[in-house]
Amino acid sequence: MDVIDRVVAGVTERRPQGSGQDARPKMGLAVLTCMDSRLDPARLLDLGLGAAHVLRNAGGVVTTDVVESLAMSQERFGTRHVVVVHHTHCAALAERLPRHSAEESVRAAVRLLRAAPDLPHRDAVRGFVLDIERGTLTEVPTSATGPAVARAAPSRAGWRLSRCLWCKRAFDPSASSRRRQRRVYCGDLCRLAARAGGPAPP
Ligand code: ZN
Repeated sequence: MDVIDRVVAGVTERRPQGSGQDARPKMGLAVLTCMDSRLDPARLLDLGLGAAHVLRNAGGVVTTDVVESLAMSQERFGTRHVVVVHHTHCAALAERLPRHSAEESVRAAVRLLRAAPDLPHRDAVRGFVLDIERGTLTEVPTSATGPAVARAAPSRAGWRLSRCLWCKRAFDPSASSRRRQRRVYCGDLCRLAARAGGPAPP
């Protein structure tokens, strides 16, 4: 029995009950965090079934897809609060944002979300760093939660969202791996599509 068979077979015994529940998260909360297996957002924040939307990727960084999912979360499912949790010893962040500390990457993520024009609710976005070893969660001060620190922090142009020349979606230019296309396309697919010269998506 391979690992997928094993985890799928377990469902019959556990029978997680989500049917009959409202799809709208009870706490009106969305969480953006890393895919790291040592980080369990439900346990960390004591989120029961149906409590919150949880978005995860490598590092918990703000991408086009994250912004789109959060916009849907707010528009269709009524969430209003966004919590960003990055963590110490994050291999994904080290690769995606090599020059940033966990605090800096959280600050960048919070800034991007607060600046995202596609998000209807941007007032309640807060960011935290989880110390993986100690299990402590520390809030990262930003302009809404700690004015003095935020004002002292340098404003980096790279932390603003850009709009993709091809698909017109908002994206984080600093997350792009290709320096030359940084301010132009949100990803390789759009770059290739633009080069192929086909019609732009509606
Ligand atoms: Zn991580």
